[in-house]
Amino acid sequence: MIIEPKVREYICTTAHPQGCAESVRNQADYACKQGMVNGTKKALIIGCSTGYGLASRICALENCGADTLGIMFERQANGRRTATPGWYNTAEFHRLASGKGVYAKTINGDAFSKEIKEKAIELIKKDLGKVDLVVYSLAAPRRTDAEGKTWSSCLKTTDEPFTEKSLDLRNNEITEKTVEPATEEEVLSTVKVMGGEDWADWIDALKAADVLTENAVTVAYSYIGPELTYPIYYHGTIGTAKQHLQKTMSEINQAHPDVCAVISVNKGLVTQASAAIPVVPLYFAILYKVMKKAGNHENCIQQIARLFTQKLYTPTGFQTDENGFIRMDDYELTPEIQEEVKKCWKAVTTDTVKEYCDIDGYWEDFYHMFGFHYSDIDYTQDVDANVEINGIVM
Ligand code: NAD
Repeated sequence: MIIEPKVREYICTTAHPQGCAESVRNQADYACKQGMVNGTKKALIIGCSTGYGLASRICALENCGADTLGIMFERQANGRRTATPGWYNTAEFHRLASGKGVYAKTINGDAFSKEIKEKAIELIKKDLGKVDLVVYSLAAPRRTDAEGKTWSSCLKTTDEPFTEKSLDLRNNEITEKTVEPATEEEVLSTVKVMGGEDWADWIDALKAADVLTENAVTVAYSYIGPELTYPIYYHGTIGTAKQHLQKTMSEINQAHPDVCAVISVNKGLVTQASAAIPVVPLYFAILYKVMKKAGNHENCIQQIARLFTQKLYTPTGFQTDENGFIRMDDYELTPEIQEEVKKCWKAVTTDTVKEYCDIDGYWEDFYHMFGFHYSDIDYTQDVDANVEINGIVM
């Protein structure tokens, strides 16, 4: 079929298999150039198919030569529907790993469920023995917990309505958006989905099954961002969940003294998850412009390759701040960058959107996530949307 992008506001409902494969190969090439470190040998990556989780899996392979078991929730192609980008990304990742003679298997299913945890444990026991790294990189809209109750996350404030400039992604216009406060139930529900409960459940289950090596590392990804977005992000429902995740780090470390749990606070980047947050895309588009001008902009793979080679696997251990967090948002939050972002934020209007925002960069990242806008792919050609993943466990 001929596959073209079908964009609905902040999501694209189609994905191109060749473009997704190219994006994975580009990321692998970048990681490979950063060199090898003495890091993970066997890793479990929960949320392995897109964004930060995919980048982590690529770095585990390219910077450490590690065997990886991935968990994802993706859809394969059927009839006239393409597969999701994460499906195509994973097919290419498996091809790369197999070309190097390195183990890669992926379980496609709900990581929150007991069944998928059991499946993962069974596979680790059978194929890997134990894992020394667990990356927790889920971004999900809902979670059904062990009691069968389904919780949904929402993107709202936790106190007052918040009105701010926003970028309308349908027409690149600067508008105003009001974000309403969440109810107590909505805050709790978002914490249930995006907080640390499931991370802790995973580590408890892996530990009980004795499939973690001694001093195994587990890293979960968080975001804090600048004061500008605090009302909607860090002090909002999602930030409340992230604070819970951060607290869970200490709880895991206390419960399992031979496990090293750590949070990596990453930079704000366009991914399928982040594009949906109100107000935040405008901040990202301005941030991209300012950081590219300053020469310190990083994308997912650049962030995670730096994490693996300079902050996680170093001869002197984790490089953390006073709270025990690895700060990959260090460049983003420098006063010089944030001062400049604030100035642009105040000044930007629809007429000056290209002057202050890296709109083209934003959209390039967006289309690349779905495998589009690669100059060497002829998108008018027929392609087979059905791509098999060699080593998938359904
Ligand atoms: P993403 O949407 O690109 O990736 C989410 C991953 O989770 C995918 O692999 C998807 O298949 C998987 N997934 C979702 N629901 C699942 C389920 N029920 N079972 C199994 N797998 C499931 O998201 P991302 O932006 O890479 O976010 C990953 C983590 O990084 C999140 O915790 C996010 O908060 C954090 N983070 C993101 C940013 C950012 O700006 N994007 C910044 C800092 C931290």
